Order: sequence, then C-alpha cells, then structure tokens
Amino acid sequence: MDAGEPRYYSYAAYMRNSFGGRVQKLSIDAGFTCPNRDGTLSTSGCSFCNNNAFNPSYCHSDSQLPQRPVKPITQQIEDGIAFHQWRYRKARRYLAYFQSYSNTYAPLSVLQRRYEEALSHPLVEGIIIGTRPDCVDDRVMDYLARLAEHHYVAVEYGIESCYDATLSLVNRGHDFATSCRAIELAARRGLPCGAHLILGLPGESYQAIVDEAAIINQLPLHSVKLHQLQVLKDTLLARQVEAGQTDVPQIPLPQYIALVCDFVEHLRPDIAIERFAGEVPPRYQALPQRAWRHDDGRYVRNEQIAPMVQAELCRRNTRQGSALI
Ligand code: SF4
Repeated sequence: MDAGEPRYYSYAAYMRNSFGGRVQKLSIDAGFTCPNRDGTLSTSGCSFCNNNAFNPSYCHSDSQLPQRPVKPITQQIEDGIAFHQWRYRKARRYLAYFQSYSNTYAPLSVLQRRYEEALSHPLVEGIIIGTRPDCVDDRVMDYLARLAEHHYVAVEYGIESCYDATLSLVNRGHDFATSCRAIELAARRGLPCGAHLILGLPGESYQAIVDEAAIINQLPLHSVKLHQLQVLKDTLLARQVEAGQTDVPQIPLPQYIALVCDFVEHLRPDIAIERFAGEVPPRYQALPQRAWRHDDGRYVRNEQIAPMVQAELCRRNTRQGSALI
C-alpha cells in the first residue's frame, strides 16, 4: 500500500465522483426549529446541542449575536458565495446545505418555498437537507424525489448513536429504529443519504463505539460525519456536568485519532467520510480546558484532524474497511 494514497474515502472524492469537480456547500439557516426544542418532544433539546455554535456567521444578520429570524435565503447564498470565493478561489459550483435545526420540520408548502428559493439561484446545483430522522415522511420524501429529477438532492440525518440507551440518555427523543426507517425512505427514492454520529457519548465504551461501524454498514448510507462529543455552553449536557449528574470522560486527541481509525477500519469502504471531528468557536466551549490544543497552546483546528487520521492509518498500514476483509 502506497503511504501517499488516501486511506479512506473522503467526501471530497465522493463529490468529485458525483460532480466531476469541486462543489462547495453553502450553509443555510432557513429559520426552522425542531420538535426537541419547541415543546413537541421537549424544550431542552438534545443534551449536547447548541445550534448557534455550528452556524457560519454569514447566515445571520448580526455575526456577533446569532439570532432568528435569519437573513433571506438568497442573501445567505450570495454572502456564502462571497465568503467561499475569497477563501477558495476555485469554488464555482455550490450546493445549498440546509443545516440548522430540523429542515423538514414545517408544512410542505413552507419547505417548498425555502428549497425552491435556494434552487432558483443560478450557481446552486442542488440542496442537502439536514434533519431529524423523525421529521420525514413519505410526502416530504416524494417531494424531494421530484426535485431530484432535475437537481442534486441529498438528505443528512442526525443519527448520533446506534444505541437506544444512549439516545435516551442524551434526550434525543427518537430511537435507532426511527433512524433506520428514515434512511430507508431516502434509499427507496434513490436520494443520497448521510448520517451524523457523535463518538464518545455518555455511557458508550470504546468497543461499543467501534461496533457502531458494523451497524452503520448494514444501512444504505452514502456518507457519514463523525464528531467528538463537546460540552457546549447553554446545553443540557453542560448543566448536567456542572451538577455532577453525568460523567463525560475527556478523550485526549491521540486516543480519539486511534478510536476514529479503529472505526474507519471497520467501516464499509464505499461510505464517504465527510469529517472526523467538529469544531466550534472557543467562546461556545463550556469546558475550554477540554478542547484539544497543540503543545504551544494553540487550538487544534478541524482541518488538522484528517491528516492525523491518514498518518495513523499509514502507520498501521490499514485503511477504510480493512478489518472487514
Ligand atoms: S441537535 Fe438537532 S434535533 Fe437535537 S435539539 Fe438540536 S436542533 Fe433539535
């Protein structure tokens, strides 16, 4: 095996295979909420969730104080394109990524207006809809399938864990069977489907996390995003930790890289990996002492994680799916 050869199937490679070139995702906050916030299931949300921490500033009218209502979608797209063209000069084609909260949690007529506004932008080639697995049904998915006849349309579900005990512990408000059903709804219609997973949730052992790869392999998924568990301000988890009600062991970076590599070795090689970890601005960290830092004190940046995973897989002389052979 060549040490320079990618040891995992990156999302960038998946997008190149799908589009024949670079396509940039533009995060959109369409102003939706979620049933785990609005009182339908709960008002406290998933215990780890602080949605503001993940939103790019160009979605909001005041970058210092993310708040709703958000900017019009067309303006978010224009601002996102300006932001990315400054950072990545080669970016010319875009996908509108409905990222914040649950982007199928509204009447179909509202969803249609929001999605179709994004798709009407001349540089937007498709949409990616991030949502909860319990916020989709046949009607919404049939509509997405109709859109997919003329555009790229993908769905991303927050699965977070394959274990019902964990999902209950983090107040997720749905079980794993619901995630499986939602993925099937997308697969039956030929819609590319991604899943978010958080590694290191309370109560999950190292082996239990690695074993999730085998469960994920059984699902018709196209991509995964992996995140480390972070304790963010203004979350149920931060309050639980402060009150001594839950123990969230910190995973040091070398151990996290080893965990990710073990997971990747057990993951089906055709599932693209979009990210290995999440990054939020330090001001959102409830326990900043737990954030990963270099020896000189600088924070470890997200883009530094993938090369570490690649280096560790090279050191082991393994690759994505090699444990399945
Ligand atoms: S993580 Fe998603 S589903 Fe959970 S509370 Fe936050 S927005 Fe709602």
